[in-house]
Amino acid sequence: MSTFEFPYIPGGYRHIELSDFSLFASPDESSAHVEWLKQTVREVSDALRSFLNFCPKRRLAVCCYRSNQEACECLDRKIDSTMALAPFDDNSKGLIVLQSPEADRRNGDSNRMKRILAHEMAHQFVSEISNSKKVLGDGNVNRIVPAWLDEGFAVVVSRLVWNDITPLKESIELFNNCTELMTFGELNWHLDDLWSKLRDKAFMCSTAAVYLLVQETSVDYVFRHLNIISGRYDNNGVCAPDKFREEIPL
Ligand SMILES: [Zn+2]
Repeated sequence: MSTFEFPYIPGGYRHIELSDFSLFASPDESSAHVEWLKQTVREVSDALRSFLNFCPKRRLAVCCYRSNQEACECLDRKIDSTMALAPFDDNSKGLIVLQSPEADRRNGDSNRMKRILAHEMAHQFVSEISNSKKVLGDGNVNRIVPAWLDEGFAVVVSRLVWNDITPLKESIELFNNCTELMTFGELNWHLDDLWSKLRDKAFMCSTAAVYLLVQETSVDYVFRHLNIISGRYDNNGVCAPDKFREEIPL
């Protein structure tokens, strides 16, 4: 498969080849929005590379679906009209998909989209550094880093890279006051189920857990020790705040 052959791209989409990523967009997408996407993906990519001091070797592609219907058809599943995801990555390339403001006007919110792109790009970086692979619907059999750590890290990075600390502090507050904590296995299960009613709560706990780890060490430490951290927390163990305050060997 060449770097130009990505799955989940609708036939007839424009392929725009840029220096370190490819962009796929509907021929109906306005040139102003395509231009905005080019600039924004570049800005997010530069910010994240510099923040994590990491230069990905996998080729990154971003596809902007014109409508929610097209997104659902291509991904062969129902997704919310504001959702972005990273449905595919292998040893040489990774794909991020998002949806046009035509699908939902909230997709035209610049700050929101920058945060979402940073989140999905963080997943790609995690996948590459941990040597994971993914195809949507594969049950995450080739994912090395568990969902709680992968999602928590993506949320923490997508906030810290834009210096948006308040939501992270709020998640720690909620985590500290949470009465019904979940096990790591339960967190993984709810995070992987896009329609789970407990998905938001699982995101909150995972985000707070990773932010506590980052506060104990550093973003760089967590990013470069993902495989070791993955092995420290058993699926049957409860994901509780005190688990992340113990001494972590540097
Ligand atoms: Zn995510």
